[in-house]
Amino acid sequence: MPQTTARGPRKLRSTNPRTGEPFRDIPAATKAEVLDAVAAARKVAPEWGSLDPRGRAHILKEVRHNIYSHLDVIVDTISMECGKPRAEALSAEVLQVVLSWLYLERTAPKHLRSERLGGALGFALGLPTTAQYRPYGVVGAITPWNYPFGLAMAAIAPALFAGNAVVLKPSEVTPGVGEVVKSILEPLPPGVATVVQGAGNIGAALVDAPCDKICFIGSPETGRKIAAAAAAHLTPVVMELGGKDAAIVCGDADLDLAASGIVWGANVNAGQTCAAIERVYVVDSVADEFSALVLDKLGRLRQGDDDSDVGSLTFKKQFDSVARQVKDAVGKGARLLAGGPDAGPPNQNGSLWYAPTVIDGVSDDMQAMKHETFGPLLPIIRVQDEEEAIRRANEDSFNLTASVWTTNSRRGAAIADRVKAGIVVINAHGETWGTVWAPWGGIGESGYGRLNGRLGLHEFVYPVTIGRNAIPRMKRLWWYPYDEATEDAFRHSIGALSAPAIGDKLRHVPDLVKSARRALRAKL
Ligand code: NAD
Repeated sequence: MPQTTARGPRKLRSTNPRTGEPFRDIPAATKAEVLDAVAAARKVAPEWGSLDPRGRAHILKEVRHNIYSHLDVIVDTISMECGKPRAEALSAEVLQVVLSWLYLERTAPKHLRSERLGGALGFALGLPTTAQYRPYGVVGAITPWNYPFGLAMAAIAPALFAGNAVVLKPSEVTPGVGEVVKSILEPLPPGVATVVQGAGNIGAALVDAPCDKICFIGSPETGRKIAAAAAAHLTPVVMELGGKDAAIVCGDADLDLAASGIVWGANVNAGQTCAAIERVYVVDSVADEFSALVLDKLGRLRQGDDDSDVGSLTFKKQFDSVARQVKDAVGKGARLLAGGPDAGPPNQNGSLWYAPTVIDGVSDDMQAMKHETFGPLLPIIRVQDEEEAIRRANEDSFNLTASVWTTNSRRGAAIADRVKAGIVVINAHGETWGTVWAPWGGIGESGYGRLNGRLGLHEFVYPVTIGRNAIPRMKRLWWYPYDEATEDAFRHSIGALSAPAIGDKLRHVPDLVKSARRALRAKL
């Protein structure tokens, strides 16, 4: 049993889920330590935020170099603590972070530059405007265990490049990776990026500290609690939540490609991926062939050791939740086509292997169709045609991302336009997490706000409009007194701008000039 404070554990246990072996214990922070970290961040934030963005990017580059120097320890720790194949730790976590860092090093100085807005209209109204982008100050980041390195770094990267100091609360399920993140951030000045380890109570203390902005990546349930707690301080939040992503296989799909991509998209990180495929709608005419290809490819996946294709699940609660959903689906009449509780490597001493599983014959009352599974379970659903697939992808559940599989690029684009999701990919799935220049995020239950790209960086700055009176020697038409000439001038301005015919517009101009002159002479 972990030693606990009133509300959370004092120690976090790092465990290898492939074997069930505990690895080490890591102390959790106290609430007082969270407040100290936020106070230290608040102290250093003005200086960090006032650095020239290029100078800041130069300092942040050291973090990327540190990742390169510590690659083996990062990858080994992720792989050991998550049960994740090394190839996935390298590609979906470290490579993604390196790409994101490189993108921000190159583009953040440009994207943070002040912008002149309004153009000629601003000058015509005598008030040209500029938008400045200022960092919030202190950003609190709270992140999950499924990509514990990649997502912790993704949550803090745009905040740091934008000039905020950050306090990160990584997941209590993967505290060893939390320690690695701490050491990777060491080149930064003290207080600029602090890691506080702990469970939900420590995350709650961070939200309540309060911070100036929160970046949360996790489940919709926790997202709701954080939104409510942040609302008490009016703290804005970026919410990156879960998904029950749909793939649509059209009648003209390249079925070999679709089966390969969907087997990967459903089982990457043992399905513990926010953008994992959790339901595939296949047009009836190709459903038999598609299912046969999926089962063939699935049968060739390796599972059971450090370098298998499909890793273990990461912790017991997740294992139990996946097992419960499969049991519930089969109990309600789903047909088990592959995998299930009796397949896969045997679990001894607390290891958490679960075989990639395929079911069909599903119905809406099954847990696996209503809630995120977050495990290696792929329901195949036959539909009459693409129209039904689109309707069900939009109505049956919620998508963070979705994919369309077709050999007709026009059809692909037309279907993508109609699918409700934050991200839709044609003939691939979920890969846009790596397109670090494009916005990433969901709608509805999948969250709000964006990471990645210019929009992701701009989540961590607030725009300040600076207006300049370009004709300060002249009083303003809307100042006191509100006399008849002032009213006439406004009436004729509206006429000159919005009368339907050009002749009518022009007829207002001389009266506008006359009444404006009269009005301005009388201003106080
Ligand atoms: P979770 O919501 O259980 O926990 C996430 C984090 O929130 C953890 O660090 C946890 O300690 C903290 N937390 C828990 N209660 C809290 C509270 N009351 N106040 C503040 N912090 C609190 O999620 P999880 O199980 O770690 O992660 C899985 C979920 O994350 C899935 O739903 C998955 O889809 C989602 N996810 C989303 C994305 C995305 O980019 N949209 C990426 C990865 C994972």
